[in-house]
Amino acid sequence: MDFPILKRKVNGKPLVYFDNAATSQTPQVVIDAIVDYYSRYNANIHRGVHTLSQEATDAYEQSRIKLQKHFNAAKAYEMIFTSGTTHGINLVANGFSSFLRKGDEVVVSALEHHSNIVPWQMLCERTGAVLRVIPMNEEGELVMDAYEQLLSEKTRLVFCNHVSNALGTVNPVKEIIDKAHGVGAAVLVDGAQACPHIKPDVQALDVDFYVASAHKMCGPTGVGVLYGKEEWLQKLPPYQGGGEMIAEVTFEKTTYAGLPHKFEAGTPDICGGIAFGVAVDYMNAIGFDKIAAYEDELLGYATKELLSIPGLRIYGTSGHKTAVVSFNIKGIHPYDIGTIVDKLGIAVRTGHHCAQPIMDYYKIPGTVRASFAFYNTQGEIDTLVAAVKKAAQMLG
Ligand SMILES: *Cc1c(COP(=O)(O)O)cnc(C)c1O
Repeated sequence: MDFPILKRKVNGKPLVYFDNAATSQTPQVVIDAIVDYYSRYNANIHRGVHTLSQEATDAYEQSRIKLQKHFNAAKAYEMIFTSGTTHGINLVANGFSSFLRKGDEVVVSALEHHSNIVPWQMLCERTGAVLRVIPMNEEGELVMDAYEQLLSEKTRLVFCNHVSNALGTVNPVKEIIDKAHGVGAAVLVDGAQACPHIKPDVQALDVDFYVASAHKMCGPTGVGVLYGKEEWLQKLPPYQGGGEMIAEVTFEKTTYAGLPHKFEAGTPDICGGIAFGVAVDYMNAIGFDKIAAYEDELLGYATKELLSIPGLRIYGTSGHKTAVVSFNIKGIHPYDIGTIVDKLGIAVRTGHHCAQPIMDYYKIPGTVRASFAFYNTQGEIDTLVAAVKKAAQMLG
């Protein structure tokens, strides 16, 4: 067992962890890398000539190269370390403030996480640009015809998640990117929810920006990555001023450092960045094809078993889904189900999953969301199904 936390008990029962869409658990190799960093070579990077600083810098830059390879970026300096997906999105949104004018249009999808809606609303408020929304359908898929209708020469930017965190829908990002490029718009894809299951190839996608968080793919919290095409990263202004991001500073004028440092002001999460690389290695050693195939089995099994419960409805029924089951039982509040199954040691998420517009579409306050990872088992799904049945009896 690679995940020590999965051995623990919750409320006297073995933990069943089905909240992987919120954060994944951490394998021992990643925990070891964190302990090793603070035990052996904790030092600030890119500054000292001393040995520890060089070791830390090497490990951090090595990790950047691991990310470059993983995402198949052309250049390592196109991989910017961030504090996570939210940071990456804000960095790009902030940078676009200087490119947009009144009347320009920004397109977002109806399936977005709040972290991918609010920064664009703020950007539109600052610039006078107009926010347009790609609608969704009953299956929880984007309506691509409507998307095409939205695009015009006014469209400057398109934002879409690769996989919806609330429903698990895998969006047709390649098609979204190609169509946006057809009208000269740039595209940022939020890969936070895709990266635990899919290995994205940023060059094959021809995406302009791609963001992810380490903590959803077996890494630590507080670190993530922004991929940007070199030409865009050159054009985009820096997000934060500070140490590390400058070439020369006088009180008259500061010149910025080259990539990636221009976007990496201040001391980063060095240990986290290193551990992120270890997590990516760990997942690649298992293999993303294997992970996807196994999780697909779990999804099929959980869908079938849960639907055998009277009154249960699953939201998000696209044929292209990652292993997320979002559901409700008629007449029962999702929070009440979540509370009862927690008493039985099962961690699921209840609520709007930071995707309130999706809940509004279905006219529901929220759902119970069970999201699976490659370390989950069919036996654990049986435990969940039995617990939900019990909750339905108690509350129904
Ligand atoms: C989790 C998530 C985010 C936010 O990630 P942070 O690590 O909290 O910044 C954004 N988008 C999607 C689709 C997510 O699943």
